[in-house]
Amino acid sequence: MRLTNKIVEDISKPFGFDLVGFAKFTELNEEVEHLSEWLQNKSNSGMSYMERNLEKRKDVRLILPDAKNIISLGMNYYTEYQHSNDENFGKVSRYAWGKDYHLIIWEKLDQLVKKLKEIDPAFEAKTYVDTGPVMDKAWAVRSGIGWIGKHSNVINREMGSWFFIATVITNYEFAASAKVADFCGSCSACIDACPTNAIVQDFVVDANKCISYLTIENKGEIDKSLSGKFENWIFGCDICQDVCPWNKKFSTETMETKFHPKEGNKEIALATVENMSEELFKEKFAESPILRTKLKGLKRNAEFLRIQKNESSS
Ligand code: SF4
Ligand code: SF4
Repeated sequence: MRLTNKIVEDISKPFGFDLVGFAKFTELNEEVEHLSEWLQNKSNSGMSYMERNLEKRKDVRLILPDAKNIISLGMNYYTEYQHSNDENFGKVSRYAWGKDYHLIIWEKLDQLVKKLKEIDPAFEAKTYVDTGPVMDKAWAVRSGIGWIGKHSNVINREMGSWFFIATVITNYEFAASAKVADFCGSCSACIDACPTNAIVQDFVVDANKCISYLTIENKGEIDKSLSGKFENWIFGCDICQDVCPWNKKFSTETMETKFHPKEGNKEIALATVENMSEELFKEKFAESPILRTKLKGLKRNAEFLRIQKNESSS
């Protein structure tokens, strides 16, 4: 049987994909041009992997030669829990409170593709979740899932920006979804709230200054000039998304309970990190995105917050 947009939507939703959009294949010339500019400005900081595979990012036919359509999927991860402001604890970004989203979404994508292939064995797909040389945000915009906010995350009109994006490159023809307009308008709440001025211009985040990058992917030390500006974030940073009116108004609880905070993963006691062994780190954060920063990174972040706390109390 021939697959249709509706069949894909109907099968995707029970897997927990709240958003589904379709885009015709095209080369991402404009998006790669912007990415190249960002790279030339060294805004990727230590993320050298962003410099690789620009050709594949531009032309997904280098991944799936018969690519005709891209399906973008969004999975809500918002829960009603909020951070504590106890300065003895470091705050963890929302996306990392529960089980690692890669593990959850990879499994669901495999099942989804299997189901679609059962309906039409001619359906072929390559799937990605935030890894690999695929411009997931660009495809989400082209698929009509949302627009890129000034903080550089994709925003959906009915859901805000607390969702993960998965990308399915297919050899199949689907009708393209309508693109949505940019509804940031004259708002600049995210730019104004960013404590390190990392949003250097609308839609452009300089990773060298972004707490999210500095506490997760960064392998080096954190620049002392940023001391006092981390607002107690130990892993990631949600400030620009917390202040966004689209999140304040439209965030709704996720259907996926595995994104709910695991005990002790919403905030982490700084004293616990300072004395943490490798064994405890691996046990406590098993299947959590927090593993990504490694124990060394988490200790560096805790130490940075501790110095910041001491400086402010002296
Ligand atoms: S994540 Fe935090 S540091 Fe990075 S741009 Fe947003 S508010 Fe600024
Ligand atoms: S805070 Fe305002 S400017 Fe920033 S992404 Fe949200 S709507 Fe756009």
